[in-house]
Amino acid sequence: MMVQLKYTISLDQITTLAYNILKFATLKLQTQFIKTMEAERYVLANFKMNKNLFEVKKWAEEFLALLYKGKKLKLKVGCAPTFIYIKALKEMVIGTDLLVGAQNMYFEEKGAFTGEVSPNQLKDISVDFVIIGHSERRNIFGENDELISKKFLSALKHNILPILCIGETKEEREKGKTEEVLIRQISILSKVRDEMKDKKVVIAYEPVWAIGTGIPATKDKIKEAVELIKTEASKFIKNFSVLYGGSIDEKVAEEIKDICDGGLVGTASLDPHKFYKIAQNFDI
Ligand code: PEP
Repeated sequence: MMVQLKYTISLDQITTLAYNILKFATLKLQTQFIKTMEAERYVLANFKMNKNLFEVKKWAEEFLALLYKGKKLKLKVGCAPTFIYIKALKEMVIGTDLLVGAQNMYFEEKGAFTGEVSPNQLKDISVDFVIIGHSERRNIFGENDELISKKFLSALKHNILPILCIGETKEEREKGKTEEVLIRQISILSKVRDEMKDKKVVIAYEPVWAIGTGIPATKDKIKEAVELIKTEASKFIKNFSVLYGGSIDEKVAEEIKDICDGGLVGTASLDPHKFYKIAQNFDI
C-alpha cells in the first residue's frame, strides 16, 4: 500500500528556511575568512655561535633528508647559523623549503660601523629572516629597547622578516612585572608606520629564565603570555605570528602546539633529528 504524504509549506516555514540557508552561508564565509587570516606557523633554529662550516652543511644535509623523506610539513622551517656561514647555507638549500636567517643585524644601510652587518648586505645574500632583540643581545651585548626598535623597523623597511624576541627575566617575573615588561617591549610595534602595517612580523616569546636552562615555561605561563602578546600586537599590526622559545624539545612542542604559532629553538635545534621532530610536532 502506498501512502501519499501531502505537505504544504507555510510562508513562515519558507522564511525560516531561507534564513537558515543564509545563516549557514554567512557562517561558512566567516570560517573561510578566519582561515585565511590564520597566523603562519614557523619553527626556526638559532644556532647561536655553534658549529663550523662543515657541521652547518652536514646539519642541512641531514635535516633536508628528513624533511623530504617524511610527510610534507605545512609550517615553515628555517635556520639561522653564524653570519659567516649564511651564504654557504643559502646556496646549498636554494630551491628547498628551508629558510635561512641571520641572528642579528645593524639598522644602518652602510658606513663606519666596524663589525656590524647591514640590512642591504643581508638582502644581498638573500637572507629570509633576521632575529632581532634576542635576550643574549640584550643582556650580554647591552642592546636596549631603543636600538632594538631601530633594528626592527629597519628589517621591516628592507623586507627582511623580523623575528622580534621579547621576554621577562627571572627577577622581573618574581617581582610580578612580566606583563609590564612584555607590554613595554612590544610597544616597539607602535612605531610601525601605516604603510608597513600589513607586513609580516614574527614575535618570539622567550622568557629569559627558560633559555638554555633545560627548564621550559609551563603551558599555562606560555598561554598567558602569548594571549597578552596577541592582544597587544593586534593594536598595532595585522599580520603576525607568535612563537615560543626557551628549552623547547619535542615534548614541549607537542604540549604547546595549539597555544602558539610555532617555536624558536636553540639547543635542541643543533641536532637535525631533534629539530625535525619538534617541527613535526608543531605542524598542525
Ligand atoms: C634561544 O636562544 O632562542 C633558545 C630558545 O634557546 P634554547 O632552546 O636553548 O633555550
